[in-house]
Amino acid sequence: MFENLTDKLERSFKILKGEGRITEINVAETLKEIRRALIDADVNYKVAKTFTDEVKQKALGQDVLKAVKPGQMMTKIVRDSLAELMGGTASDIRLDGTPAVVLIAGLQGSGKTTFSGKLASFIKSRKGRQVLLVAGDIYRPAAIDQLKVLGSQIGVEVYTEEGNRNPVEIAENAIRYARQKAFNVVIVDTAGRLAVDEAMMQEITAIKAAVKPSETLFVVDAMTGQDAVNTAREFNDRLDFDGVVLTKLDGDTRGGAAISIRSVVDKPLKFISNGEKMDALQVFHPERMADRILGMGDVVSLVERAQEQFDEEEARRLKKKLVKNQFNFNDFIAQIQQIKKMGNLKDLASMIPGMGKMLKNVDIPDDVFKQTEAIISSMTPAEREHPEIINARRRERIAKGSGTTMADVNRLMKQFEDTRKMMKAVAGGNMKMPRIPGRR
Ligand code: GDP
Repeated sequence: MFENLTDKLERSFKILKGEGRITEINVAETLKEIRRALIDADVNYKVAKTFTDEVKQKALGQDVLKAVKPGQMMTKIVRDSLAELMGGTASDIRLDGTPAVVLIAGLQGSGKTTFSGKLASFIKSRKGRQVLLVAGDIYRPAAIDQLKVLGSQIGVEVYTEEGNRNPVEIAENAIRYARQKAFNVVIVDTAGRLAVDEAMMQEITAIKAAVKPSETLFVVDAMTGQDAVNTAREFNDRLDFDGVVLTKLDGDTRGGAAISIRSVVDKPLKFISNGEKMDALQVFHPERMADRILGMGDVVSLVERAQEQFDEEEARRLKKKLVKNQFNFNDFIAQIQQIKKMGNLKDLASMIPGMGKMLKNVDIPDDVFKQTEAIISSMTPAEREHPEIINARRRERIAKGSGTTMADVNRLMKQFEDTRKMMKAVAGGNMKMPRIPGRR
């Protein structure tokens, strides 16, 4: 999402390349470039100006270390300042009270309902709480259905009151219901309108006063650029929310809103959403975001994501099978499932330093594994268990069954054999792998 900004900043640091030290003169050009890059990325003009002024102060005040080139030094200063501008450290969602109430506000179409579902799923799986979702958008019947569909996808109950036209009452009833049924978190999705208007503001402030949320989150579409910042300001004036959720960061956004909002409303960005699927949600980490903007990748997030999904028991089981050369198509498909659980491939890859830029124009479809899965599911259980029995006749049948060609099946068989060989070598210790301290 920040590719352009990343490119431009990189270029601005190059100006300093070859310079022995940071001086008022050589830094001025770099700062001008940085400011231009930020404004092009849709960062609010005033925010960009204040930012570069601060960077300048820091840069000129630095004792230039001999070991560090001025370009590197500037990169570090800009990175730290960017992180600070976006809030410094990550701030968690506050879930106090029995039940804890989270109120979701924002304009229509900003992604409130989708985010409500994602947040419910996040709190349920990461924090192990019993979550109740409340459909508070009484004007758009489709919103209620949408929340119900999301609820059933993620296994979270949705509280609705068909026919009740009073959202304050619905929210209060839902909280009573949650208490009776021992839910400990209630997420209230509310109605939005296409633009900020008095009726919407009155309604949402009335709901807030009635349910006393421990957390009020303002959801905003990052693609709306400067409007996102203005809407945030208007909502904050009336609602005094606790945090911001930026959605649609997967789209064609220049990302400037992520940088400006914090400093304009002085409220932390708490989550970012980058897709329509229920797992496309990330806790916002200012430092990691700064790294991503500067093309330093986001290795920490990547490792965390992998750790979340990695199942040690399963890994041990696999290793045993690999050594005995029993790795089969059931294991192969299980591996694919593991990778898919980690989320969008392009997203994952862009967290690796340098990869984001390389992948800029590469399209990795969401369903890269679709054909592989189709082929494997056209195999009989015996074939999946014992791939060596798959002869030409069987391959032909599998191709037909999966709507693919013989060539596709042959390619997969070859790929499977290669994987098996390679993994056997790794698992058997014939290949040099870095040893993890404390493990054998
Ligand atoms: P609401 O009116 O604020 O409740 O907004 P919705 O949750 O209905 O979202 C509006 C549209 O944006 C829907 O089509 C969603 O699927 C889509 N959407 C929501 N979040 C994201 C996101 O992070 N990325 C993308 N690409 N689409 C999103």
